[in-house]
Amino acid sequence: MSDTALWHPFSNMAKVRDAELTITRGDDVWLWDEAGRRYLDASASLWYANVGHGRREIADAVHAQMIVLEDFNAFGDIANEPALELARRLADLAPMPDAKVFFTTGGGEAVDTAAKLARRYWSALGLPQRVHVIGRMAGYHGTNGFGTSIGGIEANRAGFGPLVPHTSYVPFDSLESLEAEILRIGSDNVAAFFMEPVMGAGGVNLPPESYVEGVADVCERHGVLLICDSVICGFGRLGSWYGIERWGVEPDMITFAKGVTSGYLPLGGVVTSSRVAEPFWTGDGALFRHGATYSAHPTCCAAGIANIDILEREGLIARGAELEGALDAVLRPLADHPLVTEVRAGIGLMGAIEIDPPALAATVAVAARERGVMPRALVSSVAVSPPLTIQQPELELIGSTLREALDDVLEQAAPHNGAASSAARSTTAR
Ligand code: PLP
Repeated sequence: MSDTALWHPFSNMAKVRDAELTITRGDDVWLWDEAGRRYLDASASLWYANVGHGRREIADAVHAQMIVLEDFNAFGDIANEPALELARRLADLAPMPDAKVFFTTGGGEAVDTAAKLARRYWSALGLPQRVHVIGRMAGYHGTNGFGTSIGGIEANRAGFGPLVPHTSYVPFDSLESLEAEILRIGSDNVAAFFMEPVMGAGGVNLPPESYVEGVADVCERHGVLLICDSVICGFGRLGSWYGIERWGVEPDMITFAKGVTSGYLPLGGVVTSSRVAEPFWTGDGALFRHGATYSAHPTCCAAGIANIDILEREGLIARGAELEGALDAVLRPLADHPLVTEVRAGIGLMGAIEIDPPALAATVAVAARERGVMPRALVSSVAVSPPLTIQQPELELIGSTLREALDDVLEQAAPHNGAASSAARSTTAR
């Protein structure tokens, strides 16, 4: 048995230890494995390769920074040029006026930073009992302490013992449930509510009509901080910089990661409104005793600047919205397949097909991969979120390959069942 020392995230190592797929090269929306097979990256890796793979311009910016100053910490009064520039640009792009930016090394750390900052904000205002943090069912906010605790995918919380206290979550589509939960805890005890505008890892769940605006209203009425988790939705995925702009809502904080560098180097962060920053930035200045070694890492920030230059120059931010209809059009017809119970798409360049039985979602994703298209299997669905550079024929290839993969799986599931086999053939024909 050829064994590996690499422990893969979110993976069953008993199955993967001698069955890895090694990716060796990427170019725009395409990937190649070590055997030279080509795949269309239908998920932008984990929703992050927004400018596509193989951008020399970002590699050059990283190299140029590294040979001048690879890193020096940003604690106390120390700063570095790339972090200053990127913070300024991200703040100016934010929907909140006079925003500030706290950098982290990824999305989960951004979520934990925002949750701690929310609690610290209230304690600085003399309301230290405001600690409760609410998330949403099917929500995903990373694997750190708070992110795990407010995450609404049950399987991700199991087996870890007690999680962070004073956290809970509510149905993802109900304003009434959110308000009832705030009242149950007591408004004066609730620090913040976390919301992904379109939920990603939980299955690409779209917000109901007026939900996002309604959340802003509920939070405002109860004085609860609204934290928009734009780790997936930002940097063009929904057609704007932070994803939240299309609803005209100004959150108190925005968490970001992924598309800020398109994955060329790890980086994330929190954008805060001036309201949240004020107790820390004025008067005697409350201290936020928080920050990781690599916060504001200059080389990672240089990658972010080069990535944002590309997003701006090539008009890629708008493409998340421009292509949402085209993605919807290639996924929607799959609703007639016997294995598909629902198609969710229409907001941004992200969509999913819900599979029944749910356990076959991973099988469908593998079948598509064998046919040269790599989507992402979620709990019970298969998600599509390609780089923003994707072209129409490639989008159509995703749709046609998914149908073939669904047919393959249906055929395998019932090879001797005449009805299933003829259903498989008929869906291929459509
Ligand atoms: N928040 C959301 C909405 C995410 O989708 C993710 C990751 O997928 C995270 C937070 C965690 O980010 P990271 O994996 O960089 O820690």
